[in-house]
Amino acid sequence: MIYLNGQYMPIEEARIPVLDRGFIFGDGIYEYVPVFDRAPFRLHEHYTRLVNSLAAVQIPNPFTEAELAAVVHKLIAAHPWPNQGIYLHITRGVAPRDHSFPKNIKPTVFMMSNQLVLPTQMQIEEGLAVVTREDIRWLRCDVKSISLLGHCMLRNEATDQGCAEVIMLRDGFLTEASSSNVMVVRNGVVLCPPKDNLILPGISYNVVLELLNSHHIPHEVRPVSAAELHSADEVWITSSTKDVLAVTHMDGKPVGTGKPGPLFARVRALFLGLKAQLKAASHD
Ligand code: PMP
Repeated sequence: MIYLNGQYMPIEEARIPVLDRGFIFGDGIYEYVPVFDRAPFRLHEHYTRLVNSLAAVQIPNPFTEAELAAVVHKLIAAHPWPNQGIYLHITRGVAPRDHSFPKNIKPTVFMMSNQLVLPTQMQIEEGLAVVTREDIRWLRCDVKSISLLGHCMLRNEATDQGCAEVIMLRDGFLTEASSSNVMVVRNGVVLCPPKDNLILPGISYNVVLELLNSHHIPHEVRPVSAAELHSADEVWITSSTKDVLAVTHMDGKPVGTGKPGPLFARVRALFLGLKAQLKAASHD
């Protein structure tokens, strides 16, 4: 069952007019909310990011937070999986093709839930292989736009090399990966690229930053150079579907020892601990 413009229906019955600006221009915003043990994770933060993305591109917000939560809970209840990923997609709506934003049209709102596939034991214990590439995307990567062609082109280059992700650099500095944020460990200090217009403000990035703060793990939020990335002791990627995973091979070379590092193990354990606490609280 999916949600489309106020109605619930089987996905096979969902129809979008071809003049929808999401189809014509990629003119829309999306979110992805992970659900662990049937509880949405950090829904308020996802809602806030959605509101910010919609405001940045002047699409009217179709949902209050309570309305969004109601649809999320209905979709969760309609599916059997304990862990789900709720995909939310809002386009500017349907109008004759014209680059300027049309006035007074209704956004198209689509939501669906899929089973959330958590990282495998192998990915956790061995880490991931990635490639690095120049960041070819636009300069508003803080907006969660449905136009993902740059992300897809670069990710596909990683896939062609048998790698799981692509880590991007812009003008000699680390930005992020195609669907995750990146942090680098050097000499016991975690380096986190600033949340500016060049990266998506990841909800998992925020969780890791909170954990680094609350556990007094040395870290710096500042631009990270290509040289620092390439001489890192550890590299991590964070996202809703991966929590935090280690990158152990970059461009065919080992990162540090070529095994997930000690600080990764500590932070991943803290991340899982935080999720377990939420689970306990939601069952109280
Ligand atoms: N950067 C990009 C480009 C992404 O697509 C994602 C996944 N939404 C992330 C970072 C990680 O964000 P989050 O932790 O909210 O999943």
